[in-house]
Amino acid sequence: MMPLANTDYMRFTFMCKKQKPSQRIDKEIAIIGAGPSGLAVGGFLACKGYDLTIYERLPLPGGMMVFGIPEFRIPVDRVLKGCKELEEVFEVKFETSCKITVNDDRLLGDDYCKKKVDLDKIVNGFDAVIIATGTWNARGLPAEGSNFKGIFSALEYLFKSKSFKLGLLPKKENLKLGSNVAVVGSGLVAVDAALNLLEEGHSVKILSIENEFDAPSGSFEIRKLKKKGAEHIERTVIKRVLGEGKVKSIEVISVDAEVKNGAVLKMEQIPGTERIIDDIDNIIVGIGQSPTPPFNKEYKEINTYRWGGIEVSDKHMSSKNKVFATGDVTTGVTKIGRAFQTGLKTAQWVDRYLQGTI
Ligand SMILES: Cc1cc2nc3c(=O)[nH]c(=O)nc-3n(C[C@H](O)[C@H](O)[C@H](O)COP(=O)(O)OP(=O)(O)OC[C@H]3O[C@@H](n4cnc5c(N)ncnc54)[C@H](O)[C@@H]3O)c2cc1C
Repeated sequence: MMPLANTDYMRFTFMCKKQKPSQRIDKEIAIIGAGPSGLAVGGFLACKGYDLTIYERLPLPGGMMVFGIPEFRIPVDRVLKGCKELEEVFEVKFETSCKITVNDDRLLGDDYCKKKVDLDKIVNGFDAVIIATGTWNARGLPAEGSNFKGIFSALEYLFKSKSFKLGLLPKKENLKLGSNVAVVGSGLVAVDAALNLLEEGHSVKILSIENEFDAPSGSFEIRKLKKKGAEHIERTVIKRVLGEGKVKSIEVISVDAEVKNGAVLKMEQIPGTERIIDDIDNIIVGIGQSPTPPFNKEYKEINTYRWGGIEVSDKHMSSKNKVFATGDVTTGVTKIGRAFQTGLKTAQWVDRYLQGTI
């Protein structure tokens, strides 16, 4: 999934085989967000000898690799060792618990921020800025009763579970879930949540529009879930959440769906297929996230697409001078490998921009 030096840690500086460049380039670069895309940019440009500062609002770098994806997929230690190499060998400065923002919108995990710095101050203070802030807005459940207690996004569940395991969240602030949990969605986020729930001893029903073969996470992941004891209820959505302000059971309905490459092109509920599933304590919703640039809608200096992603040129430049953007904040949720690749491409354009060759 990621370039590794050995089985021990992730090497963000694999381009220069761990060798610190003999000459420094007298240009200062700020990277906003220390997820895979920001770290890929950092690794590439550190190999070239640039002076780099990576700003991260959470207390540790790594983005979703540390705060979203469960430990059984990516050990946190491997990511942090790679970051340590960037810091100690390549002199990359990490400013953690520091949010860069204009007209702040609150994000999951912002409680960990100790400092906020205005985006324009960063833009004015550096030769180039790369925004790599990911997708931290989770989509809600599109069903009646979606405001009931006991419903959480998969992102919040996984974020809190990881923060607790990292010793950052006290036990009393972690989510308390009942024995029977319904997970909605069949992408990697929903699957990760379901696997984590099974590991924590919950009984899991996973409901999805997709069947095993067109699930965006891939049939292998769904089969793995079933092998571990989850029940997959495919081609089914939740119509209504039932209970008195708190989830107790769900009314579900079967659907006809056309799915291509993990995207639902058409979906229709099938009348008469409604049924109740009783004894549901919690619902975990993993049906997508939207991009979270370091500014809100009021900020007009950087163009965004209607779906919220930062608009970039083929050279990964935003509409604002010397500001580039990369990773999931420009594409929507992808995968680690893709975020990493986008970061490497962006870094090459940043290098050419600073060398005056574009
Ligand atoms: C729960 C979950 C499970 C997943 N499971 C898998 C999986 O198993 N396999 C896989 O390949 N992919 C998986 N993915 C997708 C993968 O994690 C993402 O595609 C990838 O992390 C995107 O990288 P990124 O660098 O663009 O964003 P992120 O990883 O989100 O990193 C962005 C970073 O920017 C920081 N940030 C945000 N705003 C600011 C700000 N204003 N100031 C400073 N810092 C800021 C964030 O705190 C974060 O650290 C999963 C995603 C999620 C959410």
